Amino acid sequence: MTKKSLFDKVWEAHSVRTLPNGQTQLFIDTHLLHEVTSPQAFGMLRDLNLPVLYPQRTFATVDHVIPTDSAQRQEPYADELAVAMLNELRKNCKENNIRFFDVTSGGQGVIHIVGPEEGITQPGCTITCGDSHTATHGAFGALAFGIGTSQVRDVLASQTLSFAKPRLRRVQVDGKLAPGVYAKDVILHLIRKMGVNGAQGFAHEYAGEVFDNMDMEGRMTVCNMAIEGGARFGYINPDQTTVEYLKGRPYAPKGAAWDEAVKNWLSYASDEGCHYDEIIKFRAEDIAPTVTWGINPAQAVAVDEKIPALCEIPADERAGAEEAFEYMQLSPGQPVAGTKIDVAFIGSCTNGRLSDLREAAKYAKGKQVAAGVKALIVPGSQIVDKLAREEGLDKIFTDAGFQWREAGCSMCLAMNPDKLVGRQLCASSSNRNFKGRMGSPTGRTILMSPVMVVAAAITGEITDARKLFGIA
Ligand code: SF4
Repeated sequence: MTKKSLFDKVWEAHSVRTLPNGQTQLFIDTHLLHEVTSPQAFGMLRDLNLPVLYPQRTFATVDHVIPTDSAQRQEPYADELAVAMLNELRKNCKENNIRFFDVTSGGQGVIHIVGPEEGITQPGCTITCGDSHTATHGAFGALAFGIGTSQVRDVLASQTLSFAKPRLRRVQVDGKLAPGVYAKDVILHLIRKMGVNGAQGFAHEYAGEVFDNMDMEGRMTVCNMAIEGGARFGYINPDQTTVEYLKGRPYAPKGAAWDEAVKNWLSYASDEGCHYDEIIKFRAEDIAPTVTWGINPAQAVAVDEKIPALCEIPADERAGAEEAFEYMQLSPGQPVAGTKIDVAFIGSCTNGRLSDLREAAKYAKGKQVAAGVKALIVPGSQIVDKLAREEGLDKIFTDAGFQWREAGCSMCLAMNPDKLVGRQLCASSSNRNFKGRMGSPTGRTILMSPVMVVAAAITGEITDARKLFGIA
């Protein structure tokens, strides 16, 4: 029997036909929607007089525009555009019988957190969403990818999408991560080493001991940022960890169907010895807490390193580095540790899950946020919020001077009131450090793990959490 990768198995199982242009028309099992990219898609559908073909395969929530401050969350919101987007999504879901995790449902949150926690995200599935970070769901062994507005329309109308098959690269990380090194450090390290476009044209299979030993929430953090290195798809083979995570979730199969589903899910894992177009290997021991210094996620260093000098930067990346130095107001060759921050943000679809908040709370407990630093904890979903409160995590953070907010994307893209002001610099657990990303055209972002954000919040500057907290 031919040995096959998960990628090939899922691709073939969902292939409807090969189109004359060489692309494959793929059946899409699950389509996730939010308020930003869907209104225009529904509008186009209406213009064409087409129905949503599979409403039962379509799920929606509101995440980008929703205020996270309870006082600002009472409807109607101050932002009329946000109100219009939310109401349009409500209306479209109601008219088309689409399950909408609305603000009052208890299940609202960032779409890439809601899908997995509801058990909607399952191994061997194809999943699309009009959002760049859809590869998050690849953590379950799904082929999940972000799509544009016209493709959202196409999936709503046909439940299929045509796509050119990318090449497959196995990114293997073996060894054991040192204490204080997290999934976020792993993916920032990989992007740093492979470059911001290093994965263009590839799907990434993340494999090896590090991912085998990682919990599902860590795996989601890794796959979430596949796109930041240029990979439309990033996935991890399903295993017992995946199965355990899904067990009992609302949309997971039940009874006899569960056993059948588990057998089917595990059969999608890549066969030993299958073909990869490329294999790249890394060692866990080489990975340290990693932070960005520039304006893309590949411009990163270990927290105890210096920002590279210009002569250390490849010639074709120097112009970009100079632009980054100027924007970030940082100098080549200076240590990144000690950079003053104004804002600390823990949240987003990268690191707004319960395990992120738990780990961060361990180190925030009994400490105080530095004077002048605004520090936000934004649970990624209402369920994360509820579970975290039940454990008393909210109190640990608020006692330490953090603000505890309600679920949403918050500062990650700042399409809501949570924005940087002027040239403020934010230590952030999110996934993008692009210019102006956090709501101010001159605002600055340094990406890092949630524990590193806590360290920065407490000292008021980029700090090696291992040293500050004695993590060894
Ligand atoms: S948290 Fe950030 S990256 Fe994730 S869906 Fe929201 S805006 Fe996009």
